[in-house]
Amino acid sequence: MVDTNFVEDHEGLHYDVCTHNISVDGAANHWLLDAQLLAPTASSERVLNSIQDITFRAEAVARPEVANHDIYRPEAMRTIESEIDRLGPQLRELSLKIHSHPELRFREQFAHDALSDFMANQGFEVTRRYMSHVPSKESPRFMTTAWRAAFTHTPKRAQANRSIRTLGVNSEMDALPIPRGSASHACGHNLIAVAGVAVAVGVKRALEVHDVAGSVVLLGTPAEEGGHGKVRLIEAGAYKDMDACIMCHPGSGPAHMVVNAGSLAIQAIDVQFKGKPAHAALQPWDGINAQDAVVQSFNSISMLRQQLRPDLRVHGVVRFDKSSLPVNVIPSDMSMVWNIRAPTKEGLDDLRQRVVKCFQGAAAATGCTVSIICKQPLLNLQQNAALAREFERTAVNWCGLTAAKVEDSGAFSTDFGNVTYEVPGLHPAYTIPTANGGANHTAEFATAAATKEAHDATIQVAKALALTGFRILDDEAFFRQVKDVFTSLQAIGSEQEKAEAEI
Ligand SMILES: [Zn+2]
Ligand SMILES: [Zn+2]
Repeated sequence: MVDTNFVEDHEGLHYDVCTHNISVDGAANHWLLDAQLLAPTASSERVLNSIQDITFRAEAVARPEVANHDIYRPEAMRTIESEIDRLGPQLRELSLKIHSHPELRFREQFAHDALSDFMANQGFEVTRRYMSHVPSKESPRFMTTAWRAAFTHTPKRAQANRSIRTLGVNSEMDALPIPRGSASHACGHNLIAVAGVAVAVGVKRALEVHDVAGSVVLLGTPAEEGGHGKVRLIEAGAYKDMDACIMCHPGSGPAHMVVNAGSLAIQAIDVQFKGKPAHAALQPWDGINAQDAVVQSFNSISMLRQQLRPDLRVHGVVRFDKSSLPVNVIPSDMSMVWNIRAPTKEGLDDLRQRVVKCFQGAAAATGCTVSIICKQPLLNLQQNAALAREFERTAVNWCGLTAAKVEDSGAFSTDFGNVTYEVPGLHPAYTIPTANGGANHTAEFATAAATKEAHDATIQVAKALALTGFRILDDEAFFRQVKDVFTSLQAIGSEQEKAEAEI
């Protein structure tokens, strides 16, 4: 048996969230949890998950039916929940199908077809190969795996002055080249895909049952992993009709947590130094050494790091072509690729200027010419605070999840960041259980993305997200708050840009 001290010793949780009814197996450090005797709150599972070598009985992860009614329109939430639960087995099957057909960026054909078919069967108007005719400056020129599923409900009761708002939702689909030469859902985009579906069908049902005016547009967004798929869709105008856009993303961590952290803005920089070849022993003085420019770049950036804030990131690699580098010739053509990351767009602009000077300095020191190509940036996530508050309230009070405090930006980047500069946006992260604490982009995470526990966590988050989306459509005053937050975020950004321009 376990007493209160056990609980209080672990992360300061209260006695009443995890009662004394935990039994200890005969084997040392092997804990069994009886769910019927435990209030299965997020907190209690969190504390227990922190103990090594723990075994849950299956029912221990069941969520309470209703934790607290303090949410927006509980009757709408009941509708959303029963619709998502009704489709639960089909959503699970869809997720597993996508998981077992991992497709790399821009090649998400199987997922495109499976998800489009599913949405068409749910009564959505589906556009396959959405925006595939729109060319991009980047390669590949055409993106053929985006899709769009739309539904609009017009109330029977006339609401003459009422404009219909549109809720956007995103489903990511692409896998990663993990292990090398293969592919897997090591970022759990199969879960994101079905979360988007669940949100869209849940909101659709709530609009119909409660006779609320509104549109929901679910976009299947390709190539999140390095392809900037959503940036292409923004450029093609795919977000123009949305009043807000929401999605969610799994990560590893203590069970049943959600967090609305920001992400880092990121920009790739391609650098090429050109010098002059020469025999490395006979006439090295005639050469101009591009490899020295590379070395000098790394040294300068290593020194720069001491003066960078800890929330900035700079990391680069040399693009070697070994066959072109004979040891007895001064290297005359060398390339590098760098990533820079910062918590804000303005921070990224500042960091870019400082890093570019390192490359220019290296070129000047060695006599090389330098070509510096700064690629299109992915912007930081601007989590809309009004949406975040609403989502967390529902996630905690209805779904029994725990909302983590946001202290820093997450050290990751996503093309949804750019979406949040276009429309009010929310991108909560949530936890799924992984072996050995395996984080995103590991084989352990790919395995975890197929588990029932991960699916159940996704469904809970989707329910909370769906009610948040429903409120955007249903509640004019709430939407005004969301819009005000968005407008003030934009104003801060342009003020900072103005201040920089004046310096
Ligand atoms: Zn990822
Ligand atoms: Zn991802």
